Amino acid sequence: MPNSQTDHHDVVIAGAGPAGAQCARDLVRRGYDVVVLEAEGEDEFPRQSNKSSGGTFPPMLSAFGIPDDVVMNFTDNVVIESPNDYFVQYQPGGVLDFAKFKQFLVRDGRELGAEYRFDARVNTPLVEGGELVGVQYGGGNTVYGDIVVDATGPAAVLAKQLGVITLERENQAIAIEYEMEGIELDHEGYADLTDAMMLRLDHDIAPGGYSWIFHTGEDTAKVGLCYLHNDAHRLYAREGMRIDDYLQYWLDTDPRFENAERIAGRQHRGSAHLQMPDRLSSDNFMAIGDAVPTVDPVWGEGINACMKSGRAAAITADHCFVASEVDTSAANLSAYDDRWHTEVAPKMETRLLISRVLYRAPNDRLDTFIRDMRRIDATELDKVGGGSVRALAKLLHLRDVPLLARVLTASRG
Ligand SMILES: Cc1cc2nc3c(=O)[nH]c(=O)nc-3n(C[C@H](O)[C@H](O)[C@H](O)COP(=O)(O)OP(=O)(O)OC[C@H]3O[C@@H](n4cnc5c(N)ncnc54)[C@H](O)[C@@H]3O)c2cc1C
Repeated sequence: MPNSQTDHHDVVIAGAGPAGAQCARDLVRRGYDVVVLEAEGEDEFPRQSNKSSGGTFPPMLSAFGIPDDVVMNFTDNVVIESPNDYFVQYQPGGVLDFAKFKQFLVRDGRELGAEYRFDARVNTPLVEGGELVGVQYGGGNTVYGDIVVDATGPAAVLAKQLGVITLERENQAIAIEYEMEGIELDHEGYADLTDAMMLRLDHDIAPGGYSWIFHTGEDTAKVGLCYLHNDAHRLYAREGMRIDDYLQYWLDTDPRFENAERIAGRQHRGSAHLQMPDRLSSDNFMAIGDAVPTVDPVWGEGINACMKSGRAAAITADHCFVASEVDTSAANLSAYDDRWHTEVAPKMETRLLISRVLYRAPNDRLDTFIRDMRRIDATELDKVGGGSVRALAKLLHLRDVPLLARVLTASRG
């Protein structure tokens, strides 16, 4: 057990998810002394935190040196389905084995020199003389650091207590996913989902959210859905149905699952908040990944953005440490906030707006939306994906005005 007198590190990171583990990798590569505290036990890691579908794209894999052996299946297409239509776009990607991916990040970080402590649930910030100096974890252990990083995901254990973020239930998306076999991936009347990641907008299946099928090889796929407890969910939800019931309903009614079975032990659950962060840092402190939250609100792509936020925090810490006088004040660490807004999650406000419109639009409008997507060219489509308001406007119709007005009013309220 480490001695509290000497248990001091340049950076203490709470949480070994993609954000925390990547932050640790980048810091140790720069020669810093880093300890990562992870709530789960090492033997079964990740257990509860093995929550992600792991759909990702080449920029993430190459930017962070992710090996092919953690990818279950490389995919060619992204498919968007509405209740009665679909749109196919060629966009190479990969579906990660999220557990193997997390284990790789830990192993690699350790080889580079990071210290990992498992069974180390962080409870509270450690404040001495009015200053944040470390954290308390496990049954009364303390660890000190010049900088403390909260990477505990939607738990945001430290950021909440330090008043850096207030996560609102109305903005919380909840998700469930089964890994399944025996799926008919190329069923008549639907897009061919072989080597594809498919997202379906359909309030009958995911009221106020979306569902997905990510092909993981042969006749297997990850099948899940998520939604927010927002006004659209209240409008389209069916009495007494919970998230598991909606997934079961989809499995019972979609012919692609007629002969499909769940793979034992391969069930995942999780949540993420879709909202603008208040702040991202304070004196001696940064919050990264979904603690802030950083996940893309439109399609839930969080891995790349969360790892980028870990990298932005590592760069910021480096700048604080290499200055002639070490300065980890809020003023200096606010450079991380700037990086987050410009490089990690640019146009977050526009993307939140897009997600609110998409998840509230009625089913027949979603069908029209898919038809319109086929109409515009690939460059314009990329701009929509990137959050261009002008490109987005081309997809809007006059009949969307009341919906937009509702969304804008809700966003301001
Ligand atoms: C069902 C689902 C499907 C998803 N699918 C995709 C997808 O296909 N593609 C994609 O890009 N993104 C996807 N995401 C989003 C993505 O998984 C997240 O954005 C990403 O995992 C967030 O990374 P993180 O490191 O910030 O947090 P997390 O992944 O939440 O990691 C937090 C870590 O902190 C640990 N921890 C929590 N509390 C404490 C504590 N008190 N002390 C110490 N440790 C603690 C946890 O055990 C965990 O290891 C999905 C999310 C869900 C829920």
